[in-house]
Amino acid sequence: MPDQQIYIGRFAPSPTGPLHLGSIFTALASYLQARSCNGKWLLRIDDLDTPRNIKGSVDNILRALDTLGLNWDESVSFQSQSLDSYQEVLDKLNKEEQIYPCRCSRKGQTARYDGFCRHNHINLEIPHAYRVKTDDTVISFNDELQGLMTYPIDEQGDFILKRKDQIIAYQFAVVVDDQLQAVNHVVRGCDLLDSTPKQIYLQKLLGYKTPVYMHVPIIIDEEGFKLSKQTKALAVDFKRPSEVIFYVLSLLKQNPPKEFQQATVTELLDWAIEHWSPMTLKNCKTINN
Ligand code: GLU
Repeated sequence: MPDQQIYIGRFAPSPTGPLHLGSIFTALASYLQARSCNGKWLLRIDDLDTPRNIKGSVDNILRALDTLGLNWDESVSFQSQSLDSYQEVLDKLNKEEQIYPCRCSRKGQTARYDGFCRHNHINLEIPHAYRVKTDDTVISFNDELQGLMTYPIDEQGDFILKRKDQIIAYQFAVVVDDQLQAVNHVVRGCDLLDSTPKQIYLQKLLGYKTPVYMHVPIIIDEEGFKLSKQTKALAVDFKRPSEVIFYVLSLLKQNPPKEFQQATVTELLDWAIEHWSPMTLKNCKTINN
């Protein structure tokens, strides 16, 4: 039998606050998908957007995952430790004239960037961003839960890879990281579904392989808002980790048997890995908490 490629997945929280129910939902889905495929589950801290980082969140997140029994493989990686790699790839794209400096501000811009700086040289002494040139490519990918997704990449115009404040944009960093870490399966929230075509466009430009994508629903509150660190929607009680796992398994529509309510985290996770069936979430973009 040919050597099968090992599944490498990851969870990549941003350190912008403690893990909330919504992020635990995504973490658990990505963990179960990796473990049920006998794969690796890596943990990466997406800490590039420094103004949004909140002190203490990294420790908080690591402790929470540990308490919930979501053990990751290898050492934790931090995007802030890959700045040289991002710059190297940017320099290559710049040399190939795939990107260009841009000093346009977002103010007054419509959703689609009109490409002003692509056609006008700018004074490089002025703070500037870098945008990648887009073309009429149509990106299609088969999401494991959301089905076939098709997006013309040009819809929003050339997009930013490095911001004017010198911060590497999420779209670009994530592509370089997934490549560096040989990630071949990405399980994340549907809120990032629209970002995926941009990432696939960059992967193609750089000659990287495209991972398999699975976008799981996001949890919304009664008013229909996404649970987030901003809404502080639900403080999770980590003193009762097995109750948290049991509840999130129910949200994931895994139907954990009632008698498992008293089980330990390990027992619950072992059961969940064995019975993991993400197809119950098919075509589902949101789940009410
Ligand atoms: N860091 C991103 C977030 O917390 C997730 C990145 C990804 O999964 O690609 O929303």
